[in-house]
Amino acid sequence: MSAPGVAETLLLAIVERGPALTVQQRQGTVCVWCPTVLRPGDGTDIRDGHTAERDWWPHACKPCYAAHLRSVATAVDWHDHLLGCAACCQHAPCSTVGTLRAAHIEARRRIGRPAVWCSECLNIMRPDELWQQYLWQSRRGTELSYRHTGTCPPP
Ligand SMILES: [Zn+2]
Ligand SMILES: [Zn+2]
Ligand SMILES: [Zn+2]
Repeated sequence: MSAPGVAETLLLAIVERGPALTVQQRQGTVCVWCPTVLRPGDGTDIRDGHTAERDWWPHACKPCYAAHLRSVATAVDWHDHLLGCAACCQHAPCSTVGTLRAAHIEARRRIGRPAVWCSECLNIMRPDELWQQYLWQSRRGTELSYRHTGTCPPP
């Protein structure tokens, strides 16, 4: 199983950095994912003690926080299943994988990110293609990426 807090760490990794955010979003007075203005105590602190960067205090309104947390939590569920399932470990995905993938795609659709890119061939996954997600460590912490199962299809 993944360590507790992996979903929260992944959530932090999908927050935009740099000029994509307004000053108000960086300061936590506007939700980082929608235009909702957050009064003190309204928003959820996405950093949750994970980083100590100055001038970067991303907060989210409750609906955005819940939807984005679900998008990463469904990936963690899928990841944990792949590690713990005997059938999947022997390279024969079981029927549960389809359910977990569908839950993840649905959660991504709800946050407006339905498209999934392969990190190796950089193409968007087509509905008929087999792909999987994987968690990896960057300097920022745990991140989530996707790749085709097996070899990438020819361009
Ligand atoms: Zn919001
Ligand atoms: Zn399985
Ligand atoms: Zn690929």
